[in-house]
Amino acid sequence: MRIILLGPPGSGKGTQGDLIEEKYGFPKISSGDLLREAVSQGSELGKKAEDFMNRGELVSDELVVAMIKDRIAAQDCQAGFTLDGFPRTIPQAESLVAIDPASQEVVLDIQLTDKLIIERISARRICSLCGNIFNLRLKVPAAENLCDLCGGELIQRKDDTPEVISRRLRVYRELTLPLVRYYSEKRVYFPIKGESKVEDVFAQVEAVLEKNIPGLRITS
Ligand code: AMP
Repeated sequence: MRIILLGPPGSGKGTQGDLIEEKYGFPKISSGDLLREAVSQGSELGKKAEDFMNRGELVSDELVVAMIKDRIAAQDCQAGFTLDGFPRTIPQAESLVAIDPASQEVVLDIQLTDKLIIERISARRICSLCGNIFNLRLKVPAAENLCDLCGGELIQRKDDTPEVISRRLRVYRELTLPLVRYYSEKRVYFPIKGESKVEDVFAQVEAVLEKNIPGLRITS
């Protein structure tokens, strides 16, 4: 079972992926988080990816597919997983099928207008230690600039600046939007209205998953 979170940057994929993991136990795999980790570790992958990420462009399919393939081979993914930010191109989607052709796919496309995306991303802060996601308007930390979970300092992502956001949105439209048609034709595509509160968006997500995944178990 693979659950795929589509949707533009800032639409709330990471937050919904965390909620899916909490309730149904499917680990959330965020390609952006894995790449940021590689950059902060200074690995070969990180060195190759960093400039593309800072510019708001996509890292090559080859590198990202190899990274995801490696991650989903892990034991915790054998019963299923949720992908946040992958695939972002048709070749990535095709590579995913090639890794495990028999696995069921459910694609949730969290939709949001550009205006809301820009508002949300500008207010987004992430914990520099544990990666927990906050929003200065929608999910305000209890203590200013500190993570509620681990007390780490909250920072703004380097690519969450207005110029880079607009490039990321252009890249999304050009390379990722074709996936809507690709998955619609496979009849595994479900649009989700992303503008409401986190819990209301999650209610839509739960409804789709519970209707479409036979034998889905609640683990929390
Ligand atoms: P995200 O955290 O999902 O917004 O990703 C941050 C950045 O990582 C993107 O702007 C890309 O540069 C890179 N990235 C993440 N996922 C992918 C992917 N599936 N394919 C190519 N580049 C990616």
